[in-house]
Amino acid sequence: MPPRLILIPLLVPALGALALFLLLGWRWDALFVSLATLTGSALTLVVGRDTLKRQLLSLAREVRTRAEGNPTTGHPKSRERADERLEEVASLQGAIDSLHQQLTARNAGLNQEARTLIAVLDGMAEGLWVTDVQGTVVRHNDALRDMLQTAGAIVGQRPLALVRNEALNDAVTRACREGASTRLELTLEGLFHRTLAIRVTPLGGDLPGSAAVFHDVTELRHLEKVRKDFVANVSHELRTPITAIRGYAETLQSGALGDAVMAPKMVDIIHRQSERLSELVEDLLELSRLESREVKLNVVDVPLSVAASRAAEVVRHKAQGKKITVELDVPSALVGRGDERGLEQVLLNLLDNAVKYTPEGGRVKVTGSLEDGRCVVHVRDTGVGIEPRHLARIFERFYRVDKGRSRDMGGTGLGLSIVKHLMSAMGGEVRVESQPNEGSVFTIFLPAAVPTAARAG
Ligand code: ADP
Repeated sequence: MPPRLILIPLLVPALGALALFLLLGWRWDALFVSLATLTGSALTLVVGRDTLKRQLLSLAREVRTRAEGNPTTGHPKSRERADERLEEVASLQGAIDSLHQQLTARNAGLNQEARTLIAVLDGMAEGLWVTDVQGTVVRHNDALRDMLQTAGAIVGQRPLALVRNEALNDAVTRACREGASTRLELTLEGLFHRTLAIRVTPLGGDLPGSAAVFHDVTELRHLEKVRKDFVANVSHELRTPITAIRGYAETLQSGALGDAVMAPKMVDIIHRQSERLSELVEDLLELSRLESREVKLNVVDVPLSVAASRAAEVVRHKAQGKKITVELDVPSALVGRGDERGLEQVLLNLLDNAVKYTPEGGRVKVTGSLEDGRCVVHVRDTGVGIEPRHLARIFERFYRVDKGRSRDMGGTGLGLSIVKHLMSAMGGEVRVESQPNEGSVFTIFLPAAVPTAARAG
């Protein structure tokens, strides 16, 4: 028992006697009793403390003697008492040991839990920070550092120092002070443009402070924009021929049908526009099939000279109309692995563009070779060429360098996009090199067919 607690049982009787003395009035006998009790208590305390001290010292001696391997000497009674005391100490020791074990196990459990929690937080794709009630960040996970693109300290910072955004700062303040939750979305400008959807909540329970979870929705928002742009582009592309067809049909209906000069011209326009419409729908369907991987490619050995000459045959008439020479120089031994119809479509789209974007009297040449085990086919023209800033984008759906010129020439803006998808579906790729007014070179790379002899061996 601690010394201060020992005083209580000793002082209580003395104080009781003193209270009696006060209750009974100034009676000398009562005063005497209380003083005697107090003195008794003090004596007991002194004697008791000394006894306790002596007992503990003798116990310590006893333990030391036994620990050194010497048996206890003296009277059997005193040995018995020593044994009893040792048992008491041993059971006390046992209780302390078991308490210690329990605490160690609980500590290990808590450590394990904390490490698991940190691993889970760091494994999250979402960024997370926790603030104290003042709104200062006290903890965060790894993903948050990547999202905020910061190498500096995050712990100890205020939201505004980490993200220059008042709305986020206000949300943290509201969560800490009013317990209010807020959802917000913000865009981080800079080298790595990012859109983050953030949810700020109070920690809840009796924990002061707030937590904010950051979702990177950059890709999602980009895809949404691409989809919106695509729908807008499709509507626009469809509207143009539909408007022309409807307009001329209405003019014919309201009397122009009888006009022997104008009527055939209008019917001709309606015919051309309906063809354009059907081309557009065909290209859109093809592209959507390719993108959804619905198209089952039949991969076989395809002699590229045959595919090139079939494609050239389709554009020959158009090329002759513009006095453009189309030259083919693809070795007949050049055989690629791909889908026959798909490869013809790729070469047709490239040749059609080459003829389309080459002025009268120009030249278009198709060459082929085997390079590093891959079939390489170049479609070269002496046409208008493409400025470098457009090169990275011409394979996007509906991207055109010159919208007016492309439409006038009957382009849908989807040809190169289809080429790119087909080539990647066949395990190949397409690249372009071009200079304005110097012409363009579109190159396709395709896995080469294994020669029959090699396959047999
Ligand atoms: P389009 O139907 O408009 O030709 P494409 O997807 O086939 O659509 O081509 C996209 C754009 O790339 C074209 O609008 C054109 O501006 C440019 N382009 C494609 N091929 C050539 C080429 N051989 N020479 C110059 N520009 C080209």
